[in-house]
Amino acid sequence: MKKETKPRIGILGAGQLALMLAQAAKSLEVDIICAGQPGDCAEQVAPVMPVDLDDAAEVAAFAAQLDFVTVESENIHADVLQNLRLYPNAQAIGIAQDRLLEKRFFHDCGIGTAPFAAVDSLEDLQGAIKSIGLPAILKTRRLGYDVKGQVRLRNRDEAASAWAEVGGVPCILEGMVKFEAEVSLIAARGQTGKIVFYPLIENHHREGILRTSIAPFVDATLQHEAESHLKNLLQRLEYVGVLAVEFFVANGKLLANEMAPRVHNSGHWTIEGSETSQFENHLRAIAGMELGSTRSRATVMLNCIGTMPPEAETAAYPGLFRHDYGKEARPGRKVGHLTFPATERKTIAEWQHRLHAEL
Ligand code: AMP
Repeated sequence: MKKETKPRIGILGAGQLALMLAQAAKSLEVDIICAGQPGDCAEQVAPVMPVDLDDAAEVAAFAAQLDFVTVESENIHADVLQNLRLYPNAQAIGIAQDRLLEKRFFHDCGIGTAPFAAVDSLEDLQGAIKSIGLPAILKTRRLGYDVKGQVRLRNRDEAASAWAEVGGVPCILEGMVKFEAEVSLIAARGQTGKIVFYPLIENHHREGILRTSIAPFVDATLQHEAESHLKNLLQRLEYVGVLAVEFFVANGKLLANEMAPRVHNSGHWTIEGSETSQFENHLRAIAGMELGSTRSRATVMLNCIGTMPPEAETAAYPGLFRHDYGKEARPGRKVGHLTFPATERKTIAEWQHRLHAEL
């Protein structure tokens, strides 16, 4: 009898997104191997090989043992990603890891954004303040350069201190958007070009960290507009896998903020809320399988930031799904999330209060 071997998918990274991808892989005929460091949280469900993700030779040696490779973060240097059997492809990841390329790409695709300008010097910043106006946000083009990647500017005198605060690295200045809501759309594109969309999700951030996601955000016009934007992005990039785009809703229209070439925190609710989760559809896309249904129930997700609530307390709520990533508690760190059917309003309100994830 012919022995069927399962496709082996490597994930560059072994944090909570890799953990949930590996959990989703259990019901599929695929094997997951992560590249990371001993003690990374995906180790609870999948083998983690020690790989320095900044080292192209180490990453290439890891990838050589696998059928396909994907990423759990866009912050992997583009040079490391060349010549891999990578989904999504290196071009998509390269655009998503640079805020200037990303904004320009949105414009090329006919998608509106906040006004922005490239800033490579203090003089550029002063010029950008004149052309864009204030308030505005100075953002480093690439994440991970500096812990302080964003500085808000309210008056011109703050230019020099803001430039110093970002460490003088290449940036963009973005006009502050007065938004009615923040939403995201998650889509998956398979190897045949088939695309599936989840419903729009309403997101609430505090201190730049996602706290709450509520699905669906019901607006048929915006759903249609967002789907046509993602379809355009996915097709132009010949993208395979899950793509998430975050938008501001301003004056009833969508302005793209950023895209994530991977499964996304605002889609964690799909594990319980959708017939096929974002994690399963990402793996299905990569492995060339048929994409699963995205039919969904109204669901709310609350992030646990810093610490997990005690298990005995979450266990007292039968409608609640607890996801503990098994990470060490640390201020500002995403250590887990809780998911609820949206009908459990009282429980959600209690937990929002409890976790300080205010609406
Ligand atoms: P980002 O890292 O660009 O996603 O920014 C994190 C959060 O900061 C966003 O989700 C918004 O809540 C806020 N933010 C970022 N850029 C802008 C902007 N141009 N106008 C208003 N709020 C913004």
